[in-house]
Amino acid sequence: MQKTAKAPPALKAPDEGVMDQQMSLNSETELEKSICLKCDATLYEPIGSMRVPCPACGELSRKFFREANEKVFFRDVMEMKGKHGGKGRPFFEAKTGDNFYFKEEKWNHLEQIVDRDNDLYIKIITDPETGEVIRNERKPLSEHQGHGSAKVNGN
Ligand SMILES: [Zn+2]
Repeated sequence: MQKTAKAPPALKAPDEGVMDQQMSLNSETELEKSICLKCDATLYEPIGSMRVPCPACGELSRKFFREANEKVFFRDVMEMKGKHGGKGRPFFEAKTGDNFYFKEEKWNHLEQIVDRDNDLYIKIITDPETGEVIRNERKPLSEHQGHGSAKVNGN
């Protein structure tokens, strides 16, 4: 029987470390929408965390835009895009998910459709608790873009 050397103290699981891990686990991830500076990919990234390279091209820089200069958080967002022949600007974009509105301090459900073929812009915001429609916009896309809010161009 040989006496083994004492394990170095660093191998002991420090209680503090375990605490930190639990603290960083968030059931609700707050995401911020951004556009990759290089390849224009739409990304949803956790707010306040270290930025990771763009999954498409590896770029770290982003252009951020927020709707109407309001700080908006996104959650469970699904996005759909349709392109003619898989190339060029999408003719159809649909987005559905939850947005956090600071003005009202609550999560609302958002559905947004951009249909370039039919020059149509639809935005429906509903209260997920009551089902009440808070906002129902339906207008020509050309009119909506006249406000000059989110500027996205393909270089
Ligand atoms: Zn990119």
